[in-house]
Amino acid sequence: PTTSPDLTVEGLTVHYGGVCAVRDLSFSVPGGDAVGVIGANGAGKTSTLKALLGLIPRQVRALRLGGADLRGVNARDMVRHGIGYVPEGRHVFAGLPVEKNLLLGAYARTWNTETRKTLTEVYDLFPVLGEMRGRLAGALSGGQQQMLAIGRALMSKPRLLLLDEPSMGLSPKLVEEILAVLLRLRAEGLTLLLVEQNAKLTFEATSHCLVVENGSVAMTGTSERLRHDPRVRRIYLGL
Ligand code: ATP
Repeated sequence: PTTSPDLTVEGLTVHYGGVCAVRDLSFSVPGGDAVGVIGANGAGKTSTLKALLGLIPRQVRALRLGGADLRGVNARDMVRHGIGYVPEGRHVFAGLPVEKNLLLGAYARTWNTETRKTLTEVYDLFPVLGEMRGRLAGALSGGQQQMLAIGRALMSKPRLLLLDEPSMGLSPKLVEEILAVLLRLRAEGLTLLLVEQNAKLTFEATSHCLVVENGSVAMTGTSERLRHDPRVRRIYLGL
């Protein structure tokens, strides 16, 4: 039984000065479902996530998570509305131990048995983080840092998780591990919005995708249909 709310986005637009990076983007993510946004470098994927979170100025006609209107919510308060964010490039606190990084992810929660339970769940999902809990985050490999960034976001107990290129810079084996984590989170009922250049990973992790080109939606459909589309295969899967 899913308790995750739907995400609804209508007419999202981002300008940097005179440059339009995201143009009138509309999509929804049903509660408990996973939706992907694929596109080349510079297509507008990161801007889309940052704009949803209110980290950069944007225009948007509708932005709702379940019954909550998020248009007036500032970025700091998004976590209280159940939104977790895994930024591009991980941004872990390199000089702090792994466990401290995770605890910082729970900053909006009161530390109690519930948060302790979440920490146990994160260590269950990523055993390597438990083994390395006392190590400085900066000493972890790229893949381990990515897992830490996901774990840190999960510490806020999000109902919607936004992920910006979690596969970036990772070996194929580690990309498979990230896929397994995403599938597990999805099976647990978490709503996912996954932004990626890696179309193969995204099609496997999601039920629906948007293909974004120059800030606009070029194609949408089920991930199953898109992965067989000749144009997608040529441009995004290199087949
Ligand atoms: P990446 O794979 O590099 O993350 P992306 O698809 O996420 O790419 P964005 O980073 O959202 O793309 O960038 C979309 C467009 O906006 C690009 O043309 C980029 O050059 C431009 N852009 C991004 N950030 C800024 C900024 N701070 N100022 C001006 N232009 C920007």
